[in-house]
Amino acid sequence: MKKVVKFGGSSLANSEQFEKVGAIIRADETRVYVVPSAPGKRFSGDTKVTDLLYRCYELASKGEPFADPFTDIRSRYNEIIQGLHIDFSLDDEFAVIEEKLKNDPQKDYTASRGEYLNGRIMAAYLGYEFIDAAEVIFFDENGIFDHVKTKKVMSARLSKTPRAVIPGFYGQGFDGNVRTFSRGGSDITGSIVAGACDAGVYENWTDVSGFLVADPRIVRDPAIIKTITYKELRELSYMGASVLHEDAIFPVRHEGIPINIRNTNHPEDPGTWIVESTCQKSGYVITGIAGRKDFCAVLISKDMMNSEIGFGRKVLQAFEDNGISFEHMPSGIDTMTIVVHESEFVSKEQQVVSAIHRLADPDSIEIESDLALIAVVGRGMRSQRGTAGRIFSALAHAHVNVRMIDQGSSELNIIIGVENKDFDTAIKAIYTIFVETQL
Ligand code: ASP
Repeated sequence: MKKVVKFGGSSLANSEQFEKVGAIIRADETRVYVVPSAPGKRFSGDTKVTDLLYRCYELASKGEPFADPFTDIRSRYNEIIQGLHIDFSLDDEFAVIEEKLKNDPQKDYTASRGEYLNGRIMAAYLGYEFIDAAEVIFFDENGIFDHVKTKKVMSARLSKTPRAVIPGFYGQGFDGNVRTFSRGGSDITGSIVAGACDAGVYENWTDVSGFLVADPRIVRDPAIIKTITYKELRELSYMGASVLHEDAIFPVRHEGIPINIRNTNHPEDPGTWIVESTCQKSGYVITGIAGRKDFCAVLISKDMMNSEIGFGRKVLQAFEDNGISFEHMPSGIDTMTIVVHESEFVSKEQQVVSAIHRLADPDSIEIESDLALIAVVGRGMRSQRGTAGRIFSALAHAHVNVRMIDQGSSELNIIIGVENKDFDTAIKAIYTIFVETQL
């Protein structure tokens, strides 16, 4: 079995972290393909190398001197090299990058150098071959990741390379220039490499021991999720829970490869397993709780709405015509509610209201703001009586007024709308009833 191991920025922020990573890789000889991020923050308030690189690009593109951030970047890498006591130098690489910044500054190329240089060091440190991601990861003419070409080229290359370091975050654009994924994109690279080599597992090493049942900024010391399905993860990430880049799921999901989130600082912790399906019961009825604030609800009423064919389509068209995507749509007999992000909606609200009047001729439209949505997610909820009842009694006891309820047809989640001001209280109440009390 082969394992692909991706290490995040904080796992590679300095030479001590590199040593931990080295020990993790050497501890298991099936860890054959390594995907590094760029060096991240060493302490809170520190700057990530990727951000320093973006700064260099900004300055260089305006023709301004970029020596300050560039020197910082150089010393970050040199410190790592010295700390690892390896006979290795990145001086030639720095000369190339500096030249390029001066003569032909390119944003994606510049940003990608964080991973590229870290990959060079990692390969030298481990004695693994270095594969430049620009030779094995491709984007199409629309800038979309080209799964087919990448799989073909990368699989062929990996089949000839038993152990390699492939830097995260970038590949080759259709025009031949380097192109990056969105921020946090090394997670995607790891997933692509895992899919291309038919890995048994994609280990994603970070600085937390897995996904937490709830946001630690709201719930103190929340429990760790041991196993979560891709679908549950999607629901939670959509609601703002973040450990892994959202697009990192698809390449491995396609191949049925599990992802194991692990902690570089606590390698003994089993972390979280992200799987397609499992017969393992989660420790609690729910798998996780996540939520987001600042939604608006647009309530549309019309007598006999239920019998008017095409009413919903006309209402949705008003949103579509204004380029607003809707998040949820609970409905009644003569009412429908469209839930949208307040930030997207606010500047266009009056256009949308008049478009709804024009297209659908409703009796009234009301807009409510300051709505927070909370998703309670769990594969176990389907087969458990009284889950909804417990959620709502917990919220009633915590004096939280529920403004909206939406149970997805997958029965994987229940979405509850509360006022922004009740957001934290509601999450704590739900966590307590399912995880702490475990009634
Ligand atoms: N270094 C990039 C970033 O900071 C990509 C990554 O770390 O995944 O976003």
